[in-house]
Amino acid sequence: MRPKPFLDLIAERTVIFDGAMGTMLLNAGLSSGAIPELWNIEKPEVVQNVHRQYYEAGADVVHTNTFGGTAIKLQQKGLADKMGTINKTAVTIARRVCPDHAFVAGDLGPTGKMIKPLGDAEMDELEAAFYQQATALLQGGADLISIETMFSLQEAVAAVRGAKKAGNCPIIAATTFNKTPNGYFTIMGESVAQCISAFETESVDIIGSNCTLGSRDMIDLAGEMRSLTTKPILLQPNAGKPVQQNGGVIYKQTAAEFADDIRQIVDAGADLVGGCCGTNADFIKAIAAVLE
Ligand SMILES: [Zn+2]
Repeated sequence: MRPKPFLDLIAERTVIFDGAMGTMLLNAGLSSGAIPELWNIEKPEVVQNVHRQYYEAGADVVHTNTFGGTAIKLQQKGLADKMGTINKTAVTIARRVCPDHAFVAGDLGPTGKMIKPLGDAEMDELEAAFYQQATALLQGGADLISIETMFSLQEAVAAVRGAKKAGNCPIIAATTFNKTPNGYFTIMGESVAQCISAFETESVDIIGSNCTLGSRDMIDLAGEMRSLTTKPILLQPNAGKPVQQNGGVIYKQTAAEFADDIRQIVDAGADLVGGCCGTNADFIKAIAAVLE
């Protein structure tokens, strides 16, 4: 049994999440274009090692390696029939290295499909895919469901509804914003206020944002979100802005710079913090140190 319910921990102190999974697996030899979620079955020890590094760095919560784990997304690689196994195994891998006081968040990411009229997907179809995935994650033993990197508020809402049907657990919903001269918006043009209002209507427990923005650009975002909701806020920025180098993309921000920004993000109102693209265990260690 968990010693303390997840939502109680948030009330007590700032909660630390993990950093990137994708970039860590690429560094461990995953070829770009390969399916990261397949490594839950083929190379579980590598995925488990990433989780272990984050827990040892001070993370209270790690995300399962299931970002692209809906049947819709896996279908594009002919792997829809492995949906249940991939998601259940992902939780098992994280659970094996999860300390008694820590948690495992079942990760739901975008399906890659757009909802009508921009795309050909129906809201119900996405909700059903998220329901299936969340069910597998909860059957595997996830403590909570974390919906992340959503570029479309509608898809995020479909994920929340699917997750709620799957079981009674804390739910995080995080959209991805771009910074524009007029403020922060999703790619679909939804404002911070629109996202927060929709998530409050759906009764999510924690409202968040992750990816695309670097830590510096999330300081103001934290303040804006805090002014719009009393719910706990999760922010997981990238390690600054990516720069092109040798045909690839790299992140140049240091862990110390990142952690200094995180300190300000917490002061501006975030209750839960972690990292996204370009971050690693050193970044989480640095966050844990500045929040001490
Ligand atoms: Zn990211």
